[in-house]
Amino acid sequence: MGWLLDQPGWGGLLGLAVGHLDQNIRLWLLERHLQHPNRHEAPSGMGPWRSIRRNLLRLERRQRRRKRQLRNLIEELRACSAALPDAIVALDHSGHIQWFNDAATRLIGLKSKDLGVPLMHLVRHPDFTAHMLADTWHEEVTFPAPGKEHMVLAAHMLSYGHRGQRLLVARDATAVARVAQIRRDFVANASHELRTPLTVISGYLDTLLDEASQQDAPLQSWIIPLTQMAEQTVRMQQLIDDLLQLSKMDRLSLHESGQETVDMAMLIQDIVDEITRAHPAASPRATLMAHLDGTLALHGSHKEMRSIIMNLLNNALEHTPPQGQVTITWQRTASGATLQVTDTGCGIAARHLPRLTERFYRVDEGRDRSRGGTGLGLAIVKHAVERHGGFLAISSTLGQGSEFSCHFPAERLVIQVPEALALDNLV
Ligand code: ADP
Repeated sequence: MGWLLDQPGWGGLLGLAVGHLDQNIRLWLLERHLQHPNRHEAPSGMGPWRSIRRNLLRLERRQRRRKRQLRNLIEELRACSAALPDAIVALDHSGHIQWFNDAATRLIGLKSKDLGVPLMHLVRHPDFTAHMLADTWHEEVTFPAPGKEHMVLAAHMLSYGHRGQRLLVARDATAVARVAQIRRDFVANASHELRTPLTVISGYLDTLLDEASQQDAPLQSWIIPLTQMAEQTVRMQQLIDDLLQLSKMDRLSLHESGQETVDMAMLIQDIVDEITRAHPAASPRATLMAHLDGTLALHGSHKEMRSIIMNLLNNALEHTPPQGQVTITWQRTASGATLQVTDTGCGIAARHLPRLTERFYRVDEGRDRSRGGTGLGLAIVKHAVERHGGFLAISSTLGQGSEFSCHFPAERLVIQVPEALALDNLV
């Protein structure tokens, strides 16, 4: 046009301006389409614009297909999680609820308005709170379902993702808890009922033994059987006492059993003196040593601490020859305090260690029974230590000795001022 009108310069300039305007209009159309793809068409045209439009439409088709697939997958997952009988709650790193399934509504009572709320605020139970605050989760926690006291839930926590997210899986454990309760009640009732007749039998046996020990008594030939019967009744009484102690620990929480500040060093020293006094001077036994931190007391059950110390010390002394040594230590550690009983006795083969704290488990069935053990001592120790938030660790080498360590957490400890220091301060 410029050449025809003898104005090639102006013609070229005008051509460039029109081309530029055309590109800008297409770019604007493209931007509008990208912002609202359903409302505005993608720009069409020749050359690169045709290819841009074709590729854009292909990408959009693919994206729509992916979206549809994802939506279907989410629907499937939702249906799947709704069919699960167990409650599943997804939590963020600080325990706030991110998502939950239908069973969580049924079992835990969660509602959509609870999203974003800390789960601990909705499930208020000390065991559950302790489980939520723990760093690692090895065991399930059982607690009454919120608002449904007759229902018992068993839950465990799993960690997932890279940002400390957690998943709580809870199931209805009411039936299992009921069976366990029936078993506990049965053991407690049977043990209790056996106690009275046994006291009567043991009383008569003592009288008969007294009679038989008189000179020229007609019962003299009965001394040996009567002595054996008396020994067996003592064993049965011990067994009943241990069973009752275990069932009491099963039945009552530590809080219900009563707690106090236990001066561990004094308690251990008293028990060591008691054992020393009770031991017949004529029969030699292993040396007993104690290393005790007198400034360290423990908040808990005095009776259960006594039982732990008694069981561990008696076991160690029974399994250690007279030339050996038994040491009891009560000391501070980085994470709290440890009560440790070590001996240089016969030791225990590694295969027995995982089962040692089971009720009635014995290393040497025949020998341990004839020795008079009930097979419940270590079960009581483990149970009592765990009730105080601690754990029992056992290590042993056959022929060299054993080490039983009860680890207690720092929250259980009370630092007490030694008496001498307290008096100084008062002065
Ligand atoms: P019991 O009342 O029969 O001693 P425990 O539960 O106290 O029952 O102990 C379980 C088993 O562990 C017993 O068979 C006993 O032989 C073994 N045991 C416990 N302590 C020691 C120890 N210090 N050295 C060797 N064996 C031990």
